[in-house]
Formats: sequence, structure tokens, C-alpha cells
Amino acid sequence: MNTSRLLPNQEPSRANALAQLRAFIPKAGRAYTQFRNTDYGPAKNTAVSQLSPFIRHRLITEVEVLNAVLAHHRFHDAEKFVHEVFWRSYFKGYLEARPEIWQHYLAARDYHIEALARNSALASDYNDAITGKTGIDCFDAWVKELIETGYLHNHARMWFASIWIFTLKLPWELGADFTLRYFLDGDPASNTLSWRWVGGLHTKGKIYLARSSNIEEFTNGRFSPKGLATEASPLSEAPIARSTPLDNKPLNIELSDPALLLLTGEDLHPESLECGKTNVQYIVGTHSAAERSHLPVSPAVIDFSDGALNDALIRSQSYFKANYEAVRHLTADDLIQLANQHNVKKIIMPHATVGPIADQLPSIKLQLAEHMIELVSLTRQEDQRIWPHTKKGFFELKNHIPRILEDLAIQSR
Ligand SMILES: Cc1cc2nc3c(=O)[nH]c(=O)nc-3n(C[C@H](O)[C@H](O)[C@H](O)COP(=O)(O)OP(=O)(O)OC[C@H]3O[C@@H](n4cnc5c(N)ncnc54)[C@H](O)[C@@H]3O)c2cc1C
Repeated sequence: MNTSRLLPNQEPSRANALAQLRAFIPKAGRAYTQFRNTDYGPAKNTAVSQLSPFIRHRLITEVEVLNAVLAHHRFHDAEKFVHEVFWRSYFKGYLEARPEIWQHYLAARDYHIEALARNSALASDYNDAITGKTGIDCFDAWVKELIETGYLHNHARMWFASIWIFTLKLPWELGADFTLRYFLDGDPASNTLSWRWVGGLHTKGKIYLARSSNIEEFTNGRFSPKGLATEASPLSEAPIARSTPLDNKPLNIELSDPALLLLTGEDLHPESLECGKTNVQYIVGTHSAAERSHLPVSPAVIDFSDGALNDALIRSQSYFKANYEAVRHLTADDLIQLANQHNVKKIIMPHATVGPIADQLPSIKLQLAEHMIELVSLTRQEDQRIWPHTKKGFFELKNHIPRILEDLAIQSR
């Protein structure tokens, strides 16, 4: 496994994630509130945690992060950091209830990728953008940073998406595709919905316009770009279906039957699944990093996902006392064969949220059912608790945060 394309702090293991979390905890309180909005530049963004690739793959869970931070800080002091972690859960829950947004994004992305072959002006502007040759100094620097590190500061992501949409006037779906292919934390929910938020599609009519003075202030004077759009209208689209009720099985079932455990890159901490461990007969792991796009995905993203999955499989082998294998592409045939080999009629998996893995599951489930094999998807308690409050804006969820923390037994100092 090649992890040399990753930076030392990006080693894709739970042990590294926990070490990074421990090191960041003292900074998650008032210092985070004060300095989190400034993008100090590559290798200098120590005011934010850079934990997102680990949280996104659930090498560490949101609950662990919140527990660790609030054990050290009073809620009032760490409130900003807590809110940011909840933004992730908010986007997850929002997209779970509106999977149509993901399907619309995929269709529009493919349409625009095909248009690149037909429309040479679009192709030329797009290529300038993704190779950092727009002449907008900050934008070009962020492209380089993204390609070299797999990470951008949150404020840089907002400016980047805004310049892409309103100054360069490129389709937002091509921008979302580009960042999804390069972010180590690339996530269908946070990525798609953040791009939509910038473009004025998430909070209807409200756009995020990047301003030169704001970029200058919050990059510590590193950039002062000229020629950015100074006014813009929100993007528009045909109405998308309203939210669908979430139908997730409670997680805390005790396994009475022998089962296969299916791990995916969506949730790589099966030790905290609370589903009983004695009956796991065999473990199969997969991830969908290469399926983030039809265009090539960054090798560093693949390395991170391979490494993270491998780390989870090794931990699971020891925890569940069962052997494992990793498969590159998940197929029903492989699962049926493994289920037969291990004489099981049940496959359990941590719930895979909307994205490439979840897209495959309905057809896999049907094929398994023909062989009387059941695929049981388990939703974590925290997701079940949070997602009912993610159907509208973030601020509705925000009001529930103190009560949710209490219900999840997360106590602040
Ligand atoms: C256009 C755009 C695209 C984005 N794409 C992604 C993506 O693909 N994957 C992704 O994980 N995040 C995405 N974000 C959200 C956010 O920028 C990153 O989560 C954050 O920058 C990660 O850095 P960090 O770990 O240092 O964050 P910290 O500031 O240390 O925050 C702690 C944790 O909270 C969560 N978080 C923080 N800010 C946000 C936010 N605005 N939305 C959702 N969760 C947040 C992350 O899990 C993060 O690790 C995107 C934001 C924008 C504007």
C-alpha cells in the first residue's frame, strides 16, 4: 500500500486520528473561536483541527470528538467547534432525507462533463481553473494547495466555490466534482450541499459572494485578488422533491444469527457498533473512492481510503476474531459466495449514507434476497437522534444541540 502521497499528519489510521485529536483538544475552545476563520496557508492552519478526513471515514466518530473536546472545555468556550461538527451531521441528515439532490447532481455533473468535449470555450475555462491558470492569484494557489495536500481551509473552500461560480461562471457541478476528486475528506453530503449553499440553492436566494477585502483580511494579507464578481444572482434549478422519511433500523440489535460484517469507507469504526461481536463469521471491506467521479480521482484520495479501510479491517479482525478481505468493487455475487462459504444468511453493515456505495445497495439487496440473504443496515444512535432535526436549516438543529448532547451522554466540563 502506497501512503507516501499523503502528508505525515494524514496517515490513514485510527491511532493517528486519535493522536491528532489529542493534540488539537487544547485549541478547540476559545482559540478556535478566535482564529478558526483565518486561512494561514499550507502547513500553517493549526488553528483548525484538520480532522475531517478521519471523521469523514469515521476512523473516529463525531461523538468521540465531541466527548474529547467537551471533557476539556466548557460548552460555552467550545460552542463554535461543537457547531462545526454538527454542521457535518446536519448536511448528512439533510441529504439522507433528500437523496434526489445527489441524483440531480450526478446527472448534471455528467451532462457538463460531456459538454466539455463539445464546447471548446467551456473546456478551456475549465482547464484553466483546474490547473490553476486563471490569473486570480488566490484561486490558482488554492488549486495547487488542494492538489498537493488534499485539503483546503473552510474559508478557502467558500471563496474557491464562490469564485468558481460567480467570477469564472463555471457550472457548480464541475467544481463540486473537482473538489470531491481531490479532498481527502470528500463527502457527498458536505461537498454537494456546501457548493449548493454558496450558489444560493441551499438557503433559497442567499448566495455567498467572495470579496477581495474579506480574502485579504482572512488570509493574513497573503492575497488581495482583483476582478472578482462584486454582485451576483442566486443560481436556479427545477424544484427538487421534498424530504422523504428516514427508514433506518436501530443500531443496538444483538446479533442472534451468524453474520458477515460488511465495512465500507463510510464508517470504519465497527468496534463501536454495539451489535454484539460473537457472531461475526467473516469481514469484507470496500470503499468507493474511485467511484467519486467518472474523471480520475486523486491518487492521494485512493491511498487514504485504501489505508483507512486496511486499518479498520486489521482492527476488526482482532476485535471480532474473524478473518477479512478487501474487495475493490462491491458485487452481490461476491457477497453471496462469501455468505455461502461461511454459512450465513445475514450480512450486517454500518449504514452507508447517500453516495456511491448507497447507490449500489438497492440492486445488491434484491439479488441477495433471491438467495434468502438479508442485508441489515445499522444506523448509529447519534445519527438517529440528530437527523430528524436536519430537514430544514442548520439553525433548527442548533437549537436542539444541548439536548442532543445530553441524550448522548456527552458532558461538558
Ligand atoms: C465548497 C465546500 C466544500 C466542502 N466539502 C467538504 C467535503 O467534501 N467534506 C467535508 O468533510 N467537509 C467539506 N466542507 C466543509 C468544511 O470546509 C470542512 O469540513 C473543514 O474545512 C474541514 O477542516 P477541519 O477538519 O480543519 O475543520 P475544523 O474547523 O477543525 O472542524 C471540525 C470538524 O467539523 C466538521 N466541519 C467543520 N466545518 C464544517 C462545515 N462547514 N460543514 C460540514 N462539516 C464541517 C468537519 O468534520 C471538521 O473536521 C466543504 C465546505 C465548502 C465551503
